[in-house]
Formats: sequence, C-alpha cells, structure tokens
Amino acid sequence: MDLPSSKDKLLYTPGPLTTSLSVKQAMLHDAGSWHWEFNERVASIRERLLGLAGLSRVAGWEAVLLQGSGTFGVEAVFQTCTPPNGKVAVLSNGAYGERMILMLQHARIDHVVLRTPENVPNNPAALDALLAEDPAITQVAVVHCETTTGILNDIAALGEVVRRHGRTYIVDAMSSFGSIPIDFEGCGIHFLISSANKCIEGVPGFSFVLCRRSALVASAGWARNLSMNLLEQLKGFEKNGQFRYTPPTHALLAFEQALNELDIEGGIVARGARYRRNHQVLLEGMLGLAFRSYLPADVQSHIITSFIFPLDPRFTFEAFYKCVAERGYLLYPGKISQADTFRIGSIGRLFEPDMRAVVYAIAEAIREMGVVLH
Ligand SMILES: *Cc1c(COP(=O)(O)O)cnc(C)c1O
Repeated sequence: MDLPSSKDKLLYTPGPLTTSLSVKQAMLHDAGSWHWEFNERVASIRERLLGLAGLSRVAGWEAVLLQGSGTFGVEAVFQTCTPPNGKVAVLSNGAYGERMILMLQHARIDHVVLRTPENVPNNPAALDALLAEDPAITQVAVVHCETTTGILNDIAALGEVVRRHGRTYIVDAMSSFGSIPIDFEGCGIHFLISSANKCIEGVPGFSFVLCRRSALVASAGWARNLSMNLLEQLKGFEKNGQFRYTPPTHALLAFEQALNELDIEGGIVARGARYRRNHQVLLEGMLGLAFRSYLPADVQSHIITSFIFPLDPRFTFEAFYKCVAERGYLLYPGKISQADTFRIGSIGRLFEPDMRAVVYAIAEAIREMGVVLH
C-alpha cells in the first residue's frame, strides 16, 4: 500500500481536486455524527462559510450543508424552493446550465431557457426582455463560472435585472466560490450553491447552500423531495445540530482543515491570486507551444482553460491524455459541443511550478506523438 505521503498524480480538473496532505490526514478519525463535539464542528463550519462569504445570521443569511456532490445542492434548491406553480428561467451557456434544465424536467417544474453560445456570456438585456414579457417566471438561475469552458458570467449585471423585476435569484457558484469574491447583497442573490471539493480544496462529500433565511423559510410545504429538502435540513441543524441523515463525517473533518488552510493563505482574495497566476503561467506556456485557447481573454476565468485540439491528425485526446498521465498529471476532456477541446484546471492545491511542470509534460507528449502544432 502507498504511504499517505506518497505522491498522487496531480489533478488539473474542475474537481475533485488535488488536496493538501494535511487535508487528507484530517480524515484519519472516526467521528460520531450525533456527538456534541462533532456537531459543534459542523456548526462552526456553517458559521465560517457565512463569514467567508461576508454574511451573517444576524443579517438574515444561512448556510445549509447537504450530503452529495454539487449537483445535489443545485437540485435541492429547485426541489425545495420553487413554488408549486413556479417557473424558472435558466441562463445557459454550457453543460451545467443544461444540467439545470434536466433537473427541472425531472421535477416537472415549468421553465424557460435563455441560451447563448458557449463562448458568449449570458445576456442581461435579453433577460430583462424575458422577465418583462413573462410575469409567470418566479426564479432566475445562472451559473457563475461555467466550468464547461471556463467562461465567467456577470452575476452582478444579471442580478441587477433580476432584482428590478422582483424575482428570486439562484446562482451556481460551484467552481468560483472561494476564489472569486462575491457581493451577495450587491448581486441580489437569494440562493448560492457551491461544494466542498472545489476552490475551498476539501474532499468530495457535500454541497452547501448560502441563502437568505426568509427565502428558504418561505418555501415551507413546497419541497418535492424528502432527503433533499433544504428547509428541513436547516431545521435539523437548528433542532439538534445534526444532519438529518448520515453525514459525510470524514469529508467534514477534511473541510474544516481546508478552511483553516484557506485562512492561512489569506482568504478568498489570496487564493484567487494564486489561481490567477496558475492560469497565466499555464496560458503563456501553452500559447508558447502554439496551442490555442478556446475563449476570448475578456471572458476567460482563472478557474479552468479550454484548449482547441491540434489540427494534426496524429493528435488524439486518448493518446495525449495517456502520455501526460504517465508523467503524473491528469488533464480533463472537453465538454463543449461546439468545438473539440480539452481542459486544464488551475484550481486545487497547485502552484506555479506545477503549472510549468504540466506544460513541460505536454510538450514532451506532443513530441512523443509526433504532433506538429501550427
Ligand atoms: C462541479 C460543478 C457542478 C457540480 O458538479 P458535481 O460533479 O455534482 O460536484 C455544478 N456546477 C458547476 C459550475 C461545476 O463546476
């Protein structure tokens, strides 16, 4: 068996991500999910998430943790907080926006979609027109960083429109929360979803929803689903400090350590600065090898970068992936429907030397495959 200190392959993905050794070591304990010591730690995690977001309970905000991956958190918001005859407007420019539509179809919730191409941000003017003409729309859902490409949507400009029309605003900030500061009040956010294993650099196991208490409480009786009922989940935490059903105990212990390490690094701004440097080093290196990135620079986030497949027919992603993986670096396939791409993430426990190293490994792989870049 590998020692805990042995080096895993580095993950250049949108999650789960490479975590620190100390985050992994924090899991080497068994915690009683009903025990007061553990419940105090869960309460402190909820408190610290609010603090990280610049929010407080006094000001009317709550942090609700939910078992499962990030998708479960997004689906729980729709399942819990859409009124019985509600209608959701989804802004989509990638796979995670499309996944929201699938969730609404499964829940038989009425919805309408505003699509832009995968390399074009969501359009606030189009949203304005849609909300003006359709008073049945109760909620607007948007993806902050659409991890499909790495494009950043302007949640402040969209939020201004949503607020003006008096609708509920739902933001999937899965891949951005923890490395991009978000002004909840300024953006008019009601529900924001993120998860343990993205920019906070914890391990997979739960998502969290930061929300206006009044908006969540207003949904009493609407939930279409038992285990993903966010209001009941909140009531559970308030009643006895516990998750309603078995919590991901080890993932919570790891998350607490990940929060400590985020504090030590200097918080969201410092973490964002490291990721931005990672992205810049990566982009310069890849452009230096004559790769082309998919997105225009002004909409590209520092989270993940999509690169277009080389034209040379000797390039296949499978062979390329294998070549790079053998050197200890795991890339990510593309998810874009409109272009052949692969993706390289800049988030997780990665630093500038790791970004140089992956570029070097990519250069070697390309040479080994005999691929010529133009
Ligand atoms: C990662 C991610 C999700 C959730 O994915 P899971 O695999 O369920 O954790 C949702 N939205 C975005 C934008 C993401 O990056």
